Amino acid sequence: MSYTIINPATEEVGETIEHLELEQVDEAIARAAVAQKEWAARNPADRAAALRLFADAVDGDAENLARLEVRNSGHPISQARWEAEHVRNVLEYYSATPERLFGKQIPVAGGLDVTFQEPLGVVGIITPWNFPMTIASWGFAPALAAGNAVLLKPAEWTPLTSIRLGQLALQSGLPEGLFQVLPGRGSVIGERFVTHKTVRKVVFTGSTEVGKRIMAGCADQIKRVTLELGGKSANIIFADADLEKAAASAPYGVFENAGQDCCARSRILVQRSVYEKFMGLLEPAVKGVKVGDPNDEATEMGPLVSKAHFDSVTSYVPSDAPVAFRGSAPTGAGYWFAPTVLTPDSRTHPSAVEEIFGPVVTVLPFDDDDDAMALANASDYGLSGSIWTRDVGRALRIARGVESGNLSVNSHSSVRYNTPFGGFKQSGLGRELGPDAALAFTETKNVFIPAD
Ligand code: NAD
Repeated sequence: MSYTIINPATEEVGETIEHLELEQVDEAIARAAVAQKEWAARNPADRAAALRLFADAVDGDAENLARLEVRNSGHPISQARWEAEHVRNVLEYYSATPERLFGKQIPVAGGLDVTFQEPLGVVGIITPWNFPMTIASWGFAPALAAGNAVLLKPAEWTPLTSIRLGQLALQSGLPEGLFQVLPGRGSVIGERFVTHKTVRKVVFTGSTEVGKRIMAGCADQIKRVTLELGGKSANIIFADADLEKAAASAPYGVFENAGQDCCARSRILVQRSVYEKFMGLLEPAVKGVKVGDPNDEATEMGPLVSKAHFDSVTSYVPSDAPVAFRGSAPTGAGYWFAPTVLTPDSRTHPSAVEEIFGPVVTVLPFDDDDDAMALANASDYGLSGSIWTRDVGRALRIARGVESGNLSVNSHSSVRYNTPFGGFKQSGLGRELGPDAALAFTETKNVFIPAD
């Protein structure tokens, strides 16, 4: 089995990537288990230094990584450069971990009680196609830092940057077998991570549907699991907000990466008293989004990732869809989809509840604070969201009331490598990034030593 890369902006055919068979996956798992033992036994300072060298290697290859992502995923070059730099930053941040993975000394009678954070062993990471290299790094950097070996299975459509990161790891001096990239199918490689006893944890980012299946599979061995799943996040705009700023930034809260973003604020909730005014401000902002050649430095939004995904997004905008207005997109070759604003008259319209994962946003009015919160929470998901108001107390009340893992006031920030990230409800389980991420790749061991 294999997969041939197609440039989503041009439909040009690229290289063919061979998919690994089950037997090769088992061999990789065995190699990882050996490498992990040697890695975990190393002096923590040596592990830290090795991760810094890996970060340096990514730094030195950043432009190449960015160009690969442009060609494979259609990301605009400015965004792809940010992604490569982010991977470097994540590695550098977690390179501080090996020397700071502290246990505790707990006061008990009769002796000394201490805890150790022991590595899990071999960790399997399964990534989606929307942010291939950044999401991979959220798993592999803290996992390696905590003394684990990592097997990374990239999404079928977007393996190129992950494969390159695997090469860079080796070139930087990480031991053979410690960090392996295994291109192939979810139903073969991903499933094997779930069923193979040597893999002690699965980190999965992808659809809620597949995530549920992985969680159920992991239950069989009580295997550790972190899940980063779908979203249908709300951008809540109150009447007292800076409406000009809220409207100008709203397109970038949802259309970044062509809406193929789990944190996309794909529902804009607007207080009824300013609804018309807001829509008047939103229209030029949406029409102003620069959609085009991802290699152009000025491009803000590229194409959708594949023909199959283009068809899926298109199905949410049939000819009788409640379209308020749309931006523009190139025509001709490539999977181009213009930014689209829908205004359905029902809060249960499919576009108001389902994750479309494309440049389609649904605008709904609300009445007051309670109504805004109820509407924001009327979703099985709970990943991110934004709150626009000049009233600090209201911002705090709404932020505490919205059932979501990552909220942002008067802005659309979601991901920083040094703050925790993850979802409530069916958006996921566990947290990545931030100061505690490495702990999720350890077991706490408690040891008592008597004083006599
Ligand atoms: P997907 O679930 O189809 O695939 C994700 C990965 O799982 C791929 O590598 C795929 O090969 C693998 N896979 C598929 N079937 C599998 C199986 N049976 N066992 C093991 N692995 C299997 O998701 P996608 O379409 O690649 O990505 C889009 C989804 O990812 C969206 O729902 C999006 O919201 C979500 N996402 C979430 C986050 C987050 O941090 N919460 C981030 C990015 C994307």
